[in-house]
Amino acid sequence: MSLYKKLIREHLQSLKPYSSARDEYSGKEGVFLDANENPFGSVAGKDLNRYPDPYQWEIKEKLAALKNCKPEQIFLGNGSDEAIDLLIKAICEPKRDNMIILPPTYGMYQVCADIQQVEVRKANLTGNYQPNLEEIARIVDELTKIIWICSPNNPTGNLIEGYIIEKLLNQHPEVIIVIDEAYIDFAEQPSYINRLSEFENLVIMQTFSKAWGMAGLRVGMAFGQPELIAMLNKIKYPYNLNLQSQRIISEAIDNVEKKDAYVEKILKERLKLFKKLMELGIVRHIFPSDSNQLLVKFTDAKAIFNYLLDKKVIVRDRSNVVLCDDCLRISIGTQTENNKLIEELQAYN
Ligand SMILES: *Cc1c(COP(=O)(O)O)cnc(C)c1O
Repeated sequence: MSLYKKLIREHLQSLKPYSSARDEYSGKEGVFLDANENPFGSVAGKDLNRYPDPYQWEIKEKLAALKNCKPEQIFLGNGSDEAIDLLIKAICEPKRDNMIILPPTYGMYQVCADIQQVEVRKANLTGNYQPNLEEIARIVDELTKIIWICSPNNPTGNLIEGYIIEKLLNQHPEVIIVIDEAYIDFAEQPSYINRLSEFENLVIMQTFSKAWGMAGLRVGMAFGQPELIAMLNKIKYPYNLNLQSQRIISEAIDNVEKKDAYVEKILKERLKLFKKLMELGIVRHIFPSDSNQLLVKFTDAKAIFNYLLDKKVIVRDRSNVVLCDDCLRISIGTQTENNKLIEELQAYN
């Protein structure tokens, strides 16, 4: 029996999904009188009167070439948040199964699990923000279905060590190991997409929201075995990615070098900001970052956060988060924005 035959919730395996007009006829040519669309045009926007491709094949062909994988290994969603939600829905039986998160980490894993009444077990990262393998081994059991690894991690900014990820993949072959690579474009390390053929239990998530600069569009990606991706497609809303998003994403992929140029710029700004922050007396520590955020430990994070708010500089207060005492998370801005931040911090006393 295949891994996903075992892992996917039983009632979903026999679920009969909605069959859309575009499922039943996927050809491009013809007189389309099958979807109750307005044949004349759109009240606003350009040519939005037709339903979009439910499986976004054109984008997936381009992405597959860019990411060196197969189109059938790609799921596209309304932000990676949709992929997170659907993965839990597909695999975890409410009030029975559990999943493991590694705090401090991205908040949506827990929220999606809570909504679906799936138990969340926590194995806090170690002092240098790496997974605690002993603690994970202690809390994992036969009802653990997913372990969420965010690398580079949010809010700490660092990559998770490759040998630790491989250990988890090997030690728990029947648990899905998700690597959330929302910030991978900012890191030196290659994506784990290259390893999909080695590990059946591996799932990778990425997004167009960060390096690609398209957070407002809401498009995220998941990469995994075709069997799992097919299930995510089966349980998603039929037209989860709207036509406008599909057009813009397709155009973005054709211009990937623009994304790379943004990354270069952001990395340069990160280094400059890092150096300037280091010179401040109120900064106690800056954690090494492989992403577009700096986690900074201050003398008094709460007071500095409120002071900055008052100056209309908005950073993220993470001081109440486990292992982030007195820390603010600062997204890398433009040169002007970063200078404003530094000026206000220099004036703080
Ligand atoms: C920003 C972020 C996402 C993102 O999501 P979208 O829903 O695609 O905007 C996912 N994971 C992490 C860790 C993030 O920081």
